[in-house]
Amino acid sequence: MTNNNDCCGSTPLPISKQIRQRIVEAGGEFVSNKNISEYINTGEMDLLQDELTAKFQEVLETLVIDTENDHNTQDTARRVAKMFLRETFGGRYVPAPKITAFPNIGYENVYTAGPISIRSTCAHHFQNIVGRCWVGIFPEEKVIGLSKFNRLVHWIAERPQIQEEMTTQIADELEKFAETPNVAVVLKAEHHCMTHRGVREHESDMTTAIMRGKFRDDAALKDEFYKLLAGMKGYNS
Ligand SMILES: [Zn+2]
Repeated sequence: MTNNNDCCGSTPLPISKQIRQRIVEAGGEFVSNKNISEYINTGEMDLLQDELTAKFQEVLETLVIDTENDHNTQDTARRVAKMFLRETFGGRYVPAPKITAFPNIGYENVYTAGPISIRSTCAHHFQNIVGRCWVGIFPEEKVIGLSKFNRLVHWIAERPQIQEEMTTQIADELEKFAETPNVAVVLKAEHHCMTHRGVREHESDMTTAIMRGKFRDDAALKDEFYKLLAGMKGYNS
């Protein structure tokens, strides 16, 4: 059994360090857009939330904010800790949504889903990435239900990351769950680190697209996919 305590017996390691230690021992990764749920035991999210609340309180103090006398910020550290762990970055700490694939009874064409809302966070500035995603599948043996695409994309989006890697992760997971290499992902998003700070370029957004399998190899199918997207809600706005 691993000793979770310090060398000298008195102070136990903070829960974040205990989890980090487990990941390192297992040879795993904990970069910002990796899911680490398999290393977190029952009840430890509450401990992480307490630890983060205390740390965020220090951030507020360093910003010279009087949280004692300011009714607006009295409870902010706890709110932000909860929001980071359970919502904004929730996709790091919970396992993948349950996705059932059904047998495909003779459907041999493309199907698409979208727009799926993207609420993510730029890993460089911790600013919002807000946008939409469309996916295409040319199924083989299995099909997956429409709402599952949303759950899967939200789970991946809710991590600090960059858009290119998010798009790749979505394509990887789609391949796995839909059990086919024929997947397409288009993601359009506004980055608040571009629009609300730095160059403050309010009209800029970024589009990333990944075509795999038949979508990459068959020009007519790729063309058909983009024509379908053009007719879908929100694609041209
Ligand atoms: Zn950024």
